[in-house]
Amino acid sequence: MLEIHQFPCLSDNYGFLIYDPVSGETAAIDTPDGKEYLRQAETKGWTITQIWNTHWHPDHAGGNADIVAATGAKVIAPQEVEKISSIDRVVAHGDAVALGSFTAEVIDVSGHTNGHIAYYIPQAGVAFVGDSVFALGCGRMFEGEPKQFWDSLARIKALPPETTLYCAHEYTQSNAKFALHADPDNAALQDYAAEIDAKRAKGEWTVPTQLARELATNPFLRADNDDMQARWGGNAPHETFAALRAAKDNF
Ligand SMILES: [Zn+2]
Repeated sequence: MLEIHQFPCLSDNYGFLIYDPVSGETAAIDTPDGKEYLRQAETKGWTITQIWNTHWHPDHAGGNADIVAATGAKVIAPQEVEKISSIDRVVAHGDAVALGSFTAEVIDVSGHTNGHIAYYIPQAGVAFVGDSVFALGCGRMFEGEPKQFWDSLARIKALPPETTLYCAHEYTQSNAKFALHADPDNAALQDYAAEIDAKRAKGEWTVPTQLARELATNPFLRADNDDMQARWGGNAPHETFAALRAAKDNF
């Protein structure tokens, strides 16, 4: 079994350490805070041997140097991470990355940044999606184009629906407010939003989420839905996505 250790980092990021008990290999998924990652690894009795970055933003790769200095971990990252960190292995869509007996497939999920990737581990049924898709939301389109971002979301949509999605931020409650505005008649969304409010009132996390639930409720993943297209306009899913993304930016 792949072990996944999740913990809060910085103001609203989540940190993830994944551990293969057979080989003892441990990967840090992104590095919002290197020192906190090292503390968390120590409490688990794990030694970080690899860093898997999803994109170059400092709250995702800014802790690489601290972890490498302490552990000698190998940095696996999309090319763009070179902006802020040295890389041992550059990966892109279709590449495979091993952690002991587990293999992650690298998926291009660019749009939030141009080189953003996700790591999908079929054997564990999990995907680490960084800032591409969030529970009830998606990343801001800082560098990409709507067609590019929609194609990325379509690759996530194509994963098995039971896949567990590990998003990098606790943004769900504010995402839910826009989602209810974007898709007000969606009963599954209304139930989900109520559940999120109850969880957050108790200080509980809403990450990870499950793809099946996001497919039914996340407005950005539903830009190819007829009702969403009628409400938000656009003759193609990426045009509806663009309208939704622009509306969220100004919400
Ligand atoms: Zn980011």
